[in-house]
Amino acid sequence: MKRRSDKIGANAFLQRYSVKERVFLFYMFFFAGLALLTILANVLSGFDFYFNYKWMAISGFCTVMGVLGGRRIRTALVHRVGVYVLSLVILPASWLSSAGLLSPSMVYSVVTLLLINFLLAGIERLVLNAVFLGVNLGLISLYYLQPELFRTLTPDEQFLDWIVNIPMIFIFTALLLSTFERAYERERLVNVEKTRRLSTLSRTDPLTGVHNRLHLMDDIEYCLRDYRSKGPPFSIVLLDIDYFKQFNDAYGHLQGDECLRTIASVLQAAVLRSGDRVYRFGGEEFLILLKATDQAGALYFAHRLQGDIDEAAIPHERSPMSSTITVSIGVASYNSSEVDGQTLLNQADAALYEAKGAGRNSIVCFGS
Ligand code: GH3
Ligand code: MG
Ligand code: MG
Repeated sequence: MKRRSDKIGANAFLQRYSVKERVFLFYMFFFAGLALLTILANVLSGFDFYFNYKWMAISGFCTVMGVLGGRRIRTALVHRVGVYVLSLVILPASWLSSAGLLSPSMVYSVVTLLLINFLLAGIERLVLNAVFLGVNLGLISLYYLQPELFRTLTPDEQFLDWIVNIPMIFIFTALLLSTFERAYERERLVNVEKTRRLSTLSRTDPLTGVHNRLHLMDDIEYCLRDYRSKGPPFSIVLLDIDYFKQFNDAYGHLQGDECLRTIASVLQAAVLRSGDRVYRFGGEEFLILLKATDQAGALYFAHRLQGDIDEAAIPHERSPMSSTITVSIGVASYNSSEVDGQTLLNQADAALYEAKGAGRNSIVCFGS
């Protein structure tokens, strides 16, 4: 149970902060922690306490930046101040106060370079990179030209400096990279899910939930390619509700919408094979694509469909045909590679037109 709530807490954290915000918080709290750890190591080693003022200032500054960043108070400004102070004040000061090139400061400079390049952008990033490089080269030159400007450490102090900082730098880099990796993986999964949802939405009719016409055209193309390579015929069944305008007039548009949803679910239930699909073709017209089905099979299916709609018995008091909703159906089968998708749709439409002309509530196969 605890594990589950931990996971929820972690997910909420991930959702709350962007990758940049998370990396900034990581840096600030890490440096704050590192400074505190150094103070502890100094105290335990019995070093002069004045040594710790610098670390107390660093820890305080990074904590304040981390808290402001975590609370999203003027985030952009806080990120900038954090990056500039870290690269142009804290790091040079740590070079000067910790034996210059004999201390791990250079490694921290490299680590800070990552932050500059991740948080800043454009010309500002370019300028700070150049300035930061200049400061580091300047410090190296200064170390050779005037080493007395750098505080010298006793061998014990130097040993402690490296022994504390090198594992910290290793841990820092590993955690930083895994922070990046997790953040990007999460963002990738969110994008994959968004794309999947958008793709489903763009292919679904919002009113009835069946596939829409866009999806139909893709599927017909797929069936045509399939037919050309392997040759199974396929059929389309085009269905139009009879006297639907009168239905809307009698019961209102909302009831009309409900009727369309009911018909769509009747059609979905009638489609038994996994490859067959129902589409909303137009206002009150639906289309069913029957894979690997010839004309006789499609005709059989159309009759079953008509029976299912009769059974649904949706009242239609204004229909001159029946007291319940009826449909007219046009069927067209694809069995010649000379015909294209649009022609097949036209053929089904012509058959449907004939079925309407024959008095409605009827089924007509194209070409028969
Ligand atoms: P026929 O028997 O010749 O097919 O006549 P009909 O009244 O069904 O056909 P017509 O083309 O004259 O009218 C179609 C009606 O379908 C008109 C339109 O308002 C209605 N319709 C189209 N889309 C929707 C919809 O999404 N919701 C509702 N409620 N009605 C719709
Ligand atoms: Mg119509
Ligand atoms: Mg109609």
